[in-house]
Amino acid sequence: MQITLKQAAQKIQAANKILVTAHILPDGDAVGSTLAMLQILRSIGKSAQVFIDDTVRANLHALPHFDEIRRPAADEKFDADLLLILDTEPGRIGNVRNLTDAPILNIDHHVTNSGEDYDLYLEHEAAATCEIVFDFARELGAEITLDVATCIYTGIATDTGFFQYSNTRAKTLRTVSELVTCGVRPNEISEQLEKKSLAEVRDMCRALQSARIYFSGKVAGIFLTRAESTEGFIDLIRVINGVDVAFMINEKAPNFCRVSMRSKGVDVATIADSLGGGGHVRAAGCTLKTSIDEATKILVAAIGKALHVENPSDAGTLLADIA
Ligand code: 5GP
Ligand code: MN
Repeated sequence: MQITLKQAAQKIQAANKILVTAHILPDGDAVGSTLAMLQILRSIGKSAQVFIDDTVRANLHALPHFDEIRRPAADEKFDADLLLILDTEPGRIGNVRNLTDAPILNIDHHVTNSGEDYDLYLEHEAAATCEIVFDFARELGAEITLDVATCIYTGIATDTGFFQYSNTRAKTLRTVSELVTCGVRPNEISEQLEKKSLAEVRDMCRALQSARIYFSGKVAGIFLTRAESTEGFIDLIRVINGVDVAFMINEKAPNFCRVSMRSKGVDVATIADSLGGGGHVRAAGCTLKTSIDEATKILVAAIGKALHVENPSDAGTLLADIA
């Protein structure tokens, strides 16, 4: 059930022991929003603990309180009176779901979140969950310390591609303006977030070599196998002139393909939703439990249909072979 920000804040105020979590495959918004919320909750006298059921990419390890994030052990239980889920729906938090039977409070900005059986504060116009967390800090009367501001800034910067994507709204910039006033240094955070290991840059080269173009240049895709971190790779092809939908398929394990999509117009949230995933209109993803070849066929056909092309199956052309 969708509730208001005030109602959600009341539920937080009524709780004492709060388990905070976010989605598997955590990004800057997932980690930033949980760590900011952890500090906000403690500052208003709550007991709080963050659990995320996944590894977190190295660039985010420098965030304040990062070392306090726990990963649930098999069959572990955690005593809580509220399960606060940030930046995703309850179905995408892995084993954290089994830690407690406490009631759920979900705060999210994903348009595909249905809010069916749980209390949901959804603001899909918000650029990031971190942008909403900032409002909750205000509502709860918590101070925005530099550490809180750093976490919130990180989430907003990553989810907006450093204020380049269409989700960047006036309110986003007003919020980050306040964060900078709190002492956040955008250049230092950008430098930290952009760092890549040699292995990541090598994978990036491989990804670009694999690029294929579909439907007369409207769609571009890149392909990876077992890549650990793919942050920003899809932007390599998103920028190609004429490309509306860019996609990336990373076969993380046999018959387990992670799919990312970015668009300039087409609603990729609906495409991802139809394939069991979700996300935003211009940035979405899903997991396809098939071979990478089969996943490519399924995805290209779904994108082709959304683009209303005459023949939605296309084997594509290797970018390197295009004159
Ligand atoms: P990314 O391509 O960066 O992994 O994801 C783009 C957006 O879609 C993010 O907001 C992410 O949370 C969402 N998303 C990606 N994969 C999935 C998925 O499998 N299920 C759902 N519900 N959302 C996803
Ligand atoms: Mn987000």
